[in-house]
Amino acid sequence: MIACECPVCTSDDKKDKRLRSSIMVQSEQTTLVVDTGPDFRYQMLRAEVKHVDGIVFTHSHKDHIAGLDDVRAFNFFSQQPVNIYATDMTQEAIIREFPYAFHESKYPGLPDIQLNTITLEPFVVGDIPITPILVWHLKMPVLGFRFGPFTYITDANRIEPEELAKIKGSEVLVLNALRKEKHMSHFSLGESIAIVKELQVPQTYITHLSHQMGKHADVDAELPQGINLAWDGLVIKV
Ligand SMILES: [Zn+2]
Ligand SMILES: [Zn+2]
Repeated sequence: MIACECPVCTSDDKKDKRLRSSIMVQSEQTTLVVDTGPDFRYQMLRAEVKHVDGIVFTHSHKDHIAGLDDVRAFNFFSQQPVNIYATDMTQEAIIREFPYAFHESKYPGLPDIQLNTITLEPFVVGDIPITPILVWHLKMPVLGFRFGPFTYITDANRIEPEELAKIKGSEVLVLNALRKEKHMSHFSLGESIAIVKELQVPQTYITHLSHQMGKHADVDAELPQGINLAWDGLVIKV
């Protein structure tokens, strides 16, 4: 956190250097990114990403969309629009936040974005099948996504039983928890652990951590078998 001198923010451990939550999902043929937060540009540079086939959005909060303008680099090299997959509600916010990208007479160099509407129906990006999972972020609907054996859920504080059922059978789950103390719109660590135990997913990584969670090494050591804190740069093969 900017200006913070707590033990996490001043830690030398690389696993305590946390950018905003996002993931990249790759098959042999397809690369997609989930969310473009304010750190999107640096995350793409750091991972040396040369091409994306699509960007899938969970919800419209600024820490998940603010970096979208930087897709212009992908436009420049591919000479193609970038395909975005978002609900109507999320698209409204994207158009409001980046109006210049959607003007009829655009001057060159602006981000070139192709909007694709998603609902709770399964869809496909390239050769990657995706099942949306509806989760609640206080009163805001947010989408989690299941990609075959892997499920990614962020910014949830409540999941209804029929949506939880969609996660069952996943081999790896990424699930959000902000900190140990309760929060009104994000799961606490204890709430996330309870969900994982109910679902019996073999391996879970906890994401969207606030500095209030504590240091990676300390918290990770306290977690039950099969649950770990995620870290920036974590690569999972399924
Ligand atoms: Zn949010
Ligand atoms: Zn968030």
